[in-house]
Amino acid sequence: MRTTHRIGGKPWNGVAGRTGDVYDPATGQVSGQVDFATASVVDEAVAAAGEAFSRWRTASLAQRTSVMFSFRELLNARRSDLAEIVTAEHGKVLSDAAGEIQRGLEAVEFACGIPQLLKGGFSENASTQVDVYSIRQPLGVVGVISPFNFPAMVPLWFVPNAIGCGNAVVLKPSEKDPSAANFLAELFAEAGLPDGVLNVVHGDKEAVDRILEHPDVKAISFVGSTPVARYVYQTGTQHGKRVQALGGAKNHMVVLPDADLDLAADAAVSAGFGSSGERCMAISVVVAVDPVGDELVGKISERISALHVGDGRRPGCEMGPLVTGAHRDRVTSYLDAGRSAGAHLVVDGRSHPIDGEQGGFWLGPTLFDRVGTDMSIYTDEIFGPVLSVLRVPSYDAAVELVNANRYGNGTAIFTNDGGAARRYQNEIEVGMVGVNVPIPVPVSYYSFGGWKDSLFGDAHAYGPEGVNFFVRSKVVTSRWLDPSHGGVNLGFPQNT
Ligand code: NAD
Repeated sequence: MRTTHRIGGKPWNGVAGRTGDVYDPATGQVSGQVDFATASVVDEAVAAAGEAFSRWRTASLAQRTSVMFSFRELLNARRSDLAEIVTAEHGKVLSDAAGEIQRGLEAVEFACGIPQLLKGGFSENASTQVDVYSIRQPLGVVGVISPFNFPAMVPLWFVPNAIGCGNAVVLKPSEKDPSAANFLAELFAEAGLPDGVLNVVHGDKEAVDRILEHPDVKAISFVGSTPVARYVYQTGTQHGKRVQALGGAKNHMVVLPDADLDLAADAAVSAGFGSSGERCMAISVVVAVDPVGDELVGKISERISALHVGDGRRPGCEMGPLVTGAHRDRVTSYLDAGRSAGAHLVVDGRSHPIDGEQGGFWLGPTLFDRVGTDMSIYTDEIFGPVLSVLRVPSYDAAVELVNANRYGNGTAIFTNDGGAARRYQNEIEVGMVGVNVPIPVPVSYYSFGGWKDSLFGDAHAYGPEGVNFFVRSKVVTSRWLDPSHGGVNLGFPQNT
């Protein structure tokens, strides 16, 4: 199968240049090719978006909303087809793919209510016979660049809000699992979105660079690894664009001595190994506050051995393969690195039983104990099924450890002490905090974003901040004269 760009409402029919392989991670076989856009293909997409924008920006709110409601119905009806596409290219198990689509659907539902957030203010008679009001207008053509790990949900964090606000979009999904983006664009077309309002270009750095530099692209929403997020932020802003660039993570789960350790162990395993740890909100570090370390490590190990790892399409599988062979090899290299650095390899994922084809990109769940903050298994974002346990003597030491980390995406505290939880949410330098909740991804009417090296830019994603990102405001001062007025006045306007 060949996946190509969608520009101006149609599949692109130009001559293919560079392409990339797309894999079925559960078998390790190449399942298709994806076209890589050149700069001129990106230019075509931006031009199509620009042309569509000139009409879409004046479409009534009622019309835009009606497209969004239709899209919501279509996505809901076709969610299992999309889940199959996600599993086939990403590898996550079908139930997890369905969960991703559910969260995306919630973002669409939020966008159905966008008119409420596009209302401006109005002050009647701010000065004599003068009314002042603010209006919120779309930016123009905006770029959305998304990562491999949520090929449906991350585009849905941005695209509905962007087009709901009246913008036109050029979406560049990950080249590793490109088909979900085309599926979404086709559904939007079926929902009545005019041609060109949503365009999809596939590819790698060449396509991204052109989006970053193109003078007609006004804003960029990016999600991916921290080095690329920093680069996108710097390059995009240098080219005068508004940029929000969400980066990588190292998410800590602090377990206090009074916590329910069974609940904490369940949470650590679910949040550490769900989607094979390929989630930016995955828990990759458990901070065990003395004296819970031994008991907690025991409970986590027991649960790991019961995990059913295999092809996500097979019934009962809870954890699938990694996305590519290269990524699996990189993640596996940390198992040796951790052991050489002196950490205790409690569970080695290489020996976990696999319910899948031999050639798949497998690595079972892995657990390290007594990890040090100077070890690469702690300092690096591994982005795989590798959970590290660090032991600390006190609550204060736990907070100090988490705050010293360069990332600040998500964190969780497990405790039965409400006062300690309250103090933690106040003191911790992380953007999203869970209290007895391991993956605190905000619901769609809040906004998503980390601190420190997990986010570059001022605006978090989706929710009210997401809407603010996609509009700019204008203030109008208007005077409708009473027939009695008159006179020239060269003074600076004053309120009278
Ligand atoms: P990635 O940074 O490799 O790629 C992200 C996007 O950037 C892709 O579309 C890719 O084609 C493009 N890209 C890659 N290298 C580039 C380069 N040198 N120049 C320009 N563009 C480039 O990330 P990934 O491996 O697809 O996704 C995993 C990463 O994303 C992890 O670090 C994860 O933590 C992060 N992530 C963060 C969030 C969040 O909300 N903070 C959410 C999901 C994923």
